[in-house]
Amino acid sequence: MAATLLFKALDILQAPRIFEFVWHLLTSVSRLADDEINAANQVLGPNPERYAKVRVAEGRVLGLVFKINGSRAFTLFHTINLPGSGHHSRGNLDLLVHEMVHVSQFEKVGSVYIWQALRAQKAEGYSFGGWEQLSEDRRNGRRLSGYNREQQGQIAQDYYNQVLVPGLPADSPIRLAFQPFIDDLSTGGL
Ligand SMILES: [Zn+2]
Repeated sequence: MAATLLFKALDILQAPRIFEFVWHLLTSVSRLADDEINAANQVLGPNPERYAKVRVAEGRVLGLVFKINGSRAFTLFHTINLPGSGHHSRGNLDLLVHEMVHVSQFEKVGSVYIWQALRAQKAEGYSFGGWEQLSEDRRNGRRLSGYNREQQGQIAQDYYNQVLVPGLPADSPIRLAFQPFIDDLSTGGL
């Protein structure tokens, strides 16, 4: 609760905007490429205004950050920070989709998503139990908003890898298990 108020205050003071202004001076930033927008479109739905605001930051001060955190991508507000190598580096579109979910969380609830994601990493983590668990959860009335901030990202990432990449047909049980949660995502239900 205290954290929620603190982050709300930071949002009101425009802290994310100020942080990003400085951060972009310390890193190399670029806009989303066409294939990245295309991947995001297919999972999060079309949202040209959001995708135009997103920046990918790489290199410079991030070299040190990724040395410390083991080259794990992270998203701050509208800035997706990617390491120069490894499976979180640029070109891994499934990972980009995961990070775009964090952008979407920021737009929905403000910067408190950072606190919620860090708490998720320390608690249940990223695993949501796979597609069979998703089916069962949906039958029990669970929606995307019922998962933690990292599980939400992972559901989107796994949908990209397990449904879109192999091009599963519309009646595939795996696609059908993911679909209602992907629909929640594209309609802002997170
Ligand atoms: Zn994440």
